[in-house]
Order: sequence, then structure tokens, then C-alpha cells
Amino acid sequence: MRKAIFVSGKRKYLFCGAQEGMKLLFAVIERVKEEGHPYEIVVIDDIQESLQLSDFLKKQKMGTYLYVALSHTELKRVEKTAEEAGLTEEETQFIGYGEELKRIFCCRCHGINEAKNFEEEILCNQCGLELSVSDHYSVYHNAVLGYVAKL
Ligand SMILES: [Zn+2]
Repeated sequence: MRKAIFVSGKRKYLFCGAQEGMKLLFAVIERVKEEGHPYEIVVIDDIQESLQLSDFLKKQKMGTYLYVALSHTELKRVEKTAEEAGLTEEETQFIGYGEELKRIFCCRCHGINEAKNFEEEILCNQCGLELSVSDHYSVYHNAVLGYVAKL
């Protein structure tokens, strides 16, 4: 697991994450408080809120440094959101936790399945279709698309 690292000399520090993730940012938040830098904490506990994050990030001024700590499954979407809001790698740190599961979207029943990272084929747990895991990630579904496996 990556650890959050304090980066000095920023105008403002922005901490986003789920309740669980905030623990991982704790040391950095304490440091920022101690040194008296401006900061803001945004707790996002579900995926809807992380969608609204987009507008919020776009409103941030230059010089804002963003920390995000979320489970691996949710982190991917927020990474994308931050990128679209114009934040670069030098302005962000993403800390993922928990098991690294991929969400797989079933092309037939539109159900969401979870698969371990190395799995290439799974059975849809809702309709039983054999799915081949693509590398096509859909932001809308926050999932990788699963296509009908070739026999
Ligand atoms: Zn299905």
C-alpha cells in the first residue's frame, strides 16, 4: 500500500476520501495543521458524492494539492475525475486500500460483478453468462466491460 507523503510549499491542501481512507491521511493532515497551512477535508462515502467531486475540483485555485484515499474500486473513478478537472500527477496523491478488485459490467444483464485482478474470465453472478474481462474501462459504470467469452 502506498503511504501519503507530505509535500511542502503548496497554497492549499485538499483531503478527499472515505472515512476509512482518512486514517491513511491522518499523519499528513496533522502535519498540515501543525504548520498552519490552509486545508479542506471532504469525506466521500458513496459513489454519487464522488461524481459531484468533479465540479468541486474544477473550482480549486492553482496551487492546491489533492490527496485522495479510497478503496481501490472507487479510487479509479476519482483518479479519472481529478484528471478531467485538470489536476496533474504533480498535484495529486492517490492512496488505495482494500483488496484490489475489478468491477466487471455484464454485457447481457448489465449486472456488476467483482473479479480479482488476475482473472480473465468470470461467470456473471446474476445471469450466469461466461464473460471475458476486457481492458475497456467505462467511467459511467465505474467498471470494466465484460464481453461474451469466445468458446
Ligand atoms: Zn449477466
